[in-house]
Amino acid sequence: MLWLYDTRRRGTFAFQPRTRTATMYVCGVTPYDTTHLGHARTFLVFDVLTRLLETRGQRVRYAQNVTDIDESILQRAARDKVSWRALGRREERAFLEDMRRLGWRKPDALPHATREIPAMIKLADRLKLRGHAYELPGGLYFDVSTFPRFGRLSRLSPQKMRRILGAQDDARLDDPSRRSPLDFALWRRVIEGPTWPSHFGRGRPGWHLECSAMSDRHLGFPIDIHGGGSDLVYPHHECETAQSEAAHGMRTRFVGHWVHVAPMRLGGAKMSKSDGNMVFVRDTLKNTSPQALRLYLLDVHYRRAFDHDEERLARASKRAEALAKSLGRGRLGPVENDASTQDVLGALDDDLHAERAIRALERHARRDLAPDTVASLRTIARKVLGIL
Ligand SMILES: [Zn+2]
Repeated sequence: MLWLYDTRRRGTFAFQPRTRTATMYVCGVTPYDTTHLGHARTFLVFDVLTRLLETRGQRVRYAQNVTDIDESILQRAARDKVSWRALGRREERAFLEDMRRLGWRKPDALPHATREIPAMIKLADRLKLRGHAYELPGGLYFDVSTFPRFGRLSRLSPQKMRRILGAQDDARLDDPSRRSPLDFALWRRVIEGPTWPSHFGRGRPGWHLECSAMSDRHLGFPIDIHGGGSDLVYPHHECETAQSEAAHGMRTRFVGHWVHVAPMRLGGAKMSKSDGNMVFVRDTLKNTSPQALRLYLLDVHYRRAFDHDEERLARASKRAEALAKSLGRGRLGPVENDASTQDVLGALDDDLHAERAIRALERHARRDLAPDTVASLRTIARKVLGIL
C-alpha cells in the first residue's frame, strides 16, 4: 500500500482513494517560456505516482490546467510584440512535446483557463451568494474572515503571508480598499488587454479561481490528490482551499493528500522563469536520453530541493546505460511478490522514494535472479519509473 506525505497534516498517511477512480489535480504551466528541469521534475513525480497506481490496477483520473491567460503571458507577449494567444499556444505545444519525449503519462484532462471562464464566474457567483465574497470598484474579493481555516495548509502567520504577497507580481493589481490585505481577487475589473464580461464587470478572473473551478468540473469535489510545486502552498493552494471548501459548504475537506514538490535549484537559487535562471529540457535532451534524464530527475526525493549538477547528470546517463544492459532486453512480466521486487516497490510505497527504488533496482539487476523476477523488475523500471 502507498503511503504519501500530506502537506496539510504534516505527516505520511496511507493513500486510500474515496471512490474506485482516484482523482488527482496538478497545477500546470503558464506557457510563456520553455520547459525547464524544475517543471519536468515536478510533473514526473506525478507521472510516477500515477504509473505506480495504474500498474497495480488502480484507476486514476488526472487533470492538469494550462494557465493560458495570466499577467506574465501578457507582459511577455507585449515585450516580444506577439499576440498573447499565439505565444501561449506556441509555448504550450513546446511544453507538451518536451514532456512527450520524457514519456510523460499525459493527464486525462488538460483544461485551459480561457475556455473555463463560465465555470469560474459560476463559482465566484456561488461564493458571493454564500457570503464569502464582496464587491469593490476593483472587482470581486474573497473575504478570508469568513473562512476560519484560512492559513491551515501553509501554517503561515498573517505577517508572513503579507510579506509573500508583497513580492507577488499580480498582487499589485489588487484593490487597495479591500477589507484585509489577505483578501484575494476572484475577479478583477480591468479594461486593458483581454477581458470577459461578468456580473462583476468586464475583466479577468483572479489566478486562484481557475484551479478550484477546473478541479470541480473535471474531477468533482472533493479530490484525492492535489499537487504542484512547493512555492504554490501559499498563496495559491491556500486560496484554492478557501474557495473550494467555502463553495461546498465548508464541512468537507477539498483534498485528501496535498503533494508538493520542492524546487530545482541552479547555482543555489530556485530555477524559475521569472528569474531567468533555467536549464531547459530540450537542451538537455540533445545529449542525454529521456530515460537518463528521468533517472536524474527522480534521483532526489521529491520533498528535497534539487541542486542541478552536470556531473551527476553525466553519471545518470551511465547508470541508465548500465540498467539497459542488465535489464533492457526481454519480456515484461507481471509485478511479482518476490523479495527483490518488493524491495523496489517498498521504496516507492514509502512516500515515493524513487531514488531508493532506483538504487534497489540497480542492486538487484546486478544479481543472478530468476527469470520471473527479472521480468518483474523490468516492468517496474519501464512502466513505473520509465528509466528503461
Ligand atoms: Zn493551480
